[in-house]
Amino acid sequence: MTGGRRVGAARKAARPKPAVPAPAASLADKLARLGLASEWDFLLHLPLRYEDQTRITPVAGLPPGAEAQTEGVIERCEVAYRGRRQLLATLRDDAGDRLLLRFLHFYPSTQKQVAAGRRVRVYGSVRVGLLGAEMVHPRVHPAGPGVALPQGLTPVYPASAGVSQALLRKRIAQALLNVDITDTLPPPLRARWRLPELAPSLHGLHHPPPDADQAALSEHRHPLWQRVKFDELLAQQLSLRMARRERAGRRAPALAATGDLVARLLTALPFALTAAQQRVWREIEADLAQDRPAHRLVQGDVGSGKTVIAALAAARAIEAGQQAALMAPTEILAEQHFRKIEQWLAPLGVRIAWLAGKLKPGDKRAAQAAVADGGAQLVVGTHALIQDKVSFARLALAIVDEQHRFGVAQRLRLRAGAGGVQPHLLMLSATPIPRTLAMSYLADLDVSTIDELPPGRTPVQTKLVAAARRHEVIERLRGEVAQGRQAYWVCPLVEDSELIDSPVPLTAAAPMFEATRALVPELRWGLLHGQLPAADKAAVMRQFAEGAIDVLVATTVIEVGVDVPNASLMVIEHAQRFGLAQLHQLRGRVGRGSAVSFCVLLFDEPLSAAARERLKVIYGTTDGFEVARRDLAIRGPGEFLGSRQSGVPLLRFANLEEDAPVVERAREAAEWLLREQPAVAAAHVARWMHGRDALLDA
Ligand code: ADP
Ligand code: MG
Repeated sequence: MTGGRRVGAARKAARPKPAVPAPAASLADKLARLGLASEWDFLLHLPLRYEDQTRITPVAGLPPGAEAQTEGVIERCEVAYRGRRQLLATLRDDAGDRLLLRFLHFYPSTQKQVAAGRRVRVYGSVRVGLLGAEMVHPRVHPAGPGVALPQGLTPVYPASAGVSQALLRKRIAQALLNVDITDTLPPPLRARWRLPELAPSLHGLHHPPPDADQAALSEHRHPLWQRVKFDELLAQQLSLRMARRERAGRRAPALAATGDLVARLLTALPFALTAAQQRVWREIEADLAQDRPAHRLVQGDVGSGKTVIAALAAARAIEAGQQAALMAPTEILAEQHFRKIEQWLAPLGVRIAWLAGKLKPGDKRAAQAAVADGGAQLVVGTHALIQDKVSFARLALAIVDEQHRFGVAQRLRLRAGAGGVQPHLLMLSATPIPRTLAMSYLADLDVSTIDELPPGRTPVQTKLVAAARRHEVIERLRGEVAQGRQAYWVCPLVEDSELIDSPVPLTAAAPMFEATRALVPELRWGLLHGQLPAADKAAVMRQFAEGAIDVLVATTVIEVGVDVPNASLMVIEHAQRFGLAQLHQLRGRVGRGSAVSFCVLLFDEPLSAAARERLKVIYGTTDGFEVARRDLAIRGPGEFLGSRQSGVPLLRFANLEEDAPVVERAREAAEWLLREQPAVAAAHVARWMHGRDALLDA
């Protein structure tokens, strides 16, 4: 995903598409899609922005380029063909000045609204066209003696096809009348945090006074937002704590240190654990020994050595006579884990199964059977692990690598246990979760951090190189290979059809492979992209790992987890197209051995401001936490939490970076409320979460 640009598209794509046109949805369905069912949902459906229809500006005084309202009588109205069919009406105000109203889409009802002779108020953005001042698609209201101007700003709500502003305004106004807006927060709590009351805040946001600061309102900076943001964050903090309590009531197999498998693995490893790995392993050990399900995130920068931690945890489950599963987001990564862990554990007598979507049906059935009858003590694989056909004999530990790559529902699936007993859940992530995010979303998650790299690593040196100077990169490539090392050469895309909307000609992996190979034919080249058959992918990856390939031209299929310590050069083509997290992950593929490694970011000019900013960040730091913090500021929390696939925005009003102090307060308030007034806490969550809390439990 390149920066924030594609996020919206991804969210859309993730929704199931109906194969046949769906029958016209009922109004209730359409409202439900906007999250609107209960009266409280309507009350909490807050405006995106406002329109000031409290004033009339004469046509002569309309500010070009800005929104304003004027009033007058329609002189003429006609359907015209100016390139396309359109409705043109001329309004004449009381001073005699004229304004053209242009409708490119219109209905018979529009024609009635602006029929000649009618007196109307029109609101819209004014521009000066060939025929003088005009408004395109203004909002039209009947006017005349006795039709009063609105007293406050007019709210503009998040709407959708089939749910108009008029309808939303009516339903929300009704809810404001019907609902007794009781304050869930007891007075001492309000006083402690100097919070305004809820009812005036909601009334004020829906119908602010005409002199309110509109920019502050729509940017959620206005004091009227204070209470709503607090309440939203409080609901989130409460529901996370409730989920945690609920989980504490569930049972999991206590995995005590009963055997010697862990000890034998530690002895057999070709390296000693770093101090950070030892500390994290102790935290996990203590967790697994409990008879309630662990729920722990292990975060550590790329290359910090999370895989061995997963292997140790699996060994603990196995020595206790139980089963473990390790799920990775891509087949390449899953296979790499399988090989590595097999190499570590198979000599110690552990039976390991491999399960991925592209296995031959017979092999797949055999793997599934081994998982089901307990013949396999550990199973490593992809999403194939969470398909219906897979049942575990006695799964006690589920490990999810690169957890943010999975959807919330998928993580829940692997954890769902049978018969009231749940497996322990361990999540690994190389995308460090910034503190504000951890504090809010992950309040019910235990976090272990591997904050140290294995010894002997030197930081990767990052170079920014304009694409025109690629010949210099070729020289460096020759140099690295001459010293017996290997390189990755990453391109954003492989399909030509995807190149069309790009402002610069992009190099797809396949043509890139041919062109670059021709420059340095004496090297051994490999090509890896998503469309290769799984077996070919695995074969290429194996050759690269074994050193039989010098340069691996690849798409981002190698982005996460791939571990070939001898690789010391990473070249990223069209680096401006990648997001920050992606660039950091890609860079993390090198610098895994003892040699000094380089990451070359080839960029195309001109650079957009956002791309320049991203490249500056990645050039300026190799610290994953810093990269993540900047990334959060740029992209928002969804990418970190895997919420993209769920399609549900996790916070509507508060912003984790800007409202960090409010997050702190809400956290304290949540603890106080749960302790002192649990019934109030429950009522507050019910009002706010409305079915969203299941997602927070992931
Ligand atoms: P990541 O945290 O990115 O998943 P890996 O688990 O792939 O990192 O580990 C990166 C590399 O470092 C691997 O080759 C791994 O075997 C090696 N490694 C892990 N822990 C240590 C250690 N304590 N000392 C030396 N090398 C280690
Ligand atoms: Mg990893």
